[in-house]
Amino acid sequence: MTYNCNVISMNIYNLTFDELENYFLSINEKKYRASQVFEWLYKKRVTSFEEMTNLSNSLIEKLRKDFSFDIPIIVAKEHDKDVSKFLFKLSDGEHIESVVMYHDYGISLCVSSQVGCNMGCAFCESGRRKKVRNLEAYEMLFQVIEIEKEIKKRISHIVVMGIGEPFDNFDNLVTFISNCNNPKGLEIGSRHITVSTCGIVPKIYEFSKLPYQVNLAISLHSAFDDKRSKLMPINKAYPLKDVLIALKDYIKETNRRVTFEYILLSGVNDSEEDAKELCKLIKGLNAYVNLIPYNEGSSMGFIKPKNDEIMKFYDIIKKEGINVTIRREFGSKISAACGQLRSKKEE
Ligand code: SAH
Repeated sequence: MTYNCNVISMNIYNLTFDELENYFLSINEKKYRASQVFEWLYKKRVTSFEEMTNLSNSLIEKLRKDFSFDIPIIVAKEHDKDVSKFLFKLSDGEHIESVVMYHDYGISLCVSSQVGCNMGCAFCESGRRKKVRNLEAYEMLFQVIEIEKEIKKRISHIVVMGIGEPFDNFDNLVTFISNCNNPKGLEIGSRHITVSTCGIVPKIYEFSKLPYQVNLAISLHSAFDDKRSKLMPINKAYPLKDVLIALKDYIKETNRRVTFEYILLSGVNDSEEDAKELCKLIKGLNAYVNLIPYNEGSSMGFIKPKNDEIMKFYDIIKKEGINVTIRREFGSKISAACGQLRSKKEE
């Protein structure tokens, strides 16, 4: 990384702690400056360099020249029961959404990783708008920081399950995870952070080599290749066989359990045969299945199965001795449920 940020200055939050230390060394400052600056950014939550009163004026001036301090702003919010949705305006005028969920175990935030998404999943509203650009790390971090400021409570869990495919924005995702998890940063335990991917295989291998114990969730949605390819075009590039090999490697490398997300779409992937094939595919893996009843209310044309059908599917998996849960549905009233987030202000 170069620190010649004069051309387009980089946001200070885009730097990991180590990178900030290296920056200070490169300008002949002591390493501990990084601790001081991180303290201002992540603990005291200042909004400008001028407020960093233990730095000299000349150092503040230098930081101001080398880095920007843009803050994405919340421009709208909606609330329904135990869910709140926030619309952010980014510095180039683009918009993204984030969702807060109040659980009995804490408060979790569903973070977006891109403006739009290129994965083109047939059931997902968020993917109707093609990817405009990746979010930078600071734009992901500020979803946490600004929402904590707004709700005046600490966010304890992060799920990278908002708009976008996080593994299609890998480097920024890794910086985000680093600064979320760092005790000098947002200090969110790695086991409280979950990244969900549609299954970009090379990135699963990279992910398993990261020095963080972050959870991995895979959007599966069918155990049949032809069906999965229709629902999720990414399956044509990375078919199930390759996804499974990568996941076995991930489990071996990290000793961690994988989550399979499985949307239930009536008449599409919710038959007895679908359930049995799913069991066959993942049997013996250190994994669990999270069934997501399809959130209707979008224009994607799918139907949520009836409750007894959902339970039938659940029972088949359970009987096979596979851990399975049904995701609690919330947020659909304010279009804050899975697959309903948008990257446009109004449509
Ligand atoms: N691109 C990543 C992150 C998005 S996560 C991924 O694919 O995993 C969002 C989760 O919600 C995914 O499992 C996605 O498949 C699911 N989802 C999308 N649209 C949905 C809908 N209408 N109802 C229920 N779940 C949906």
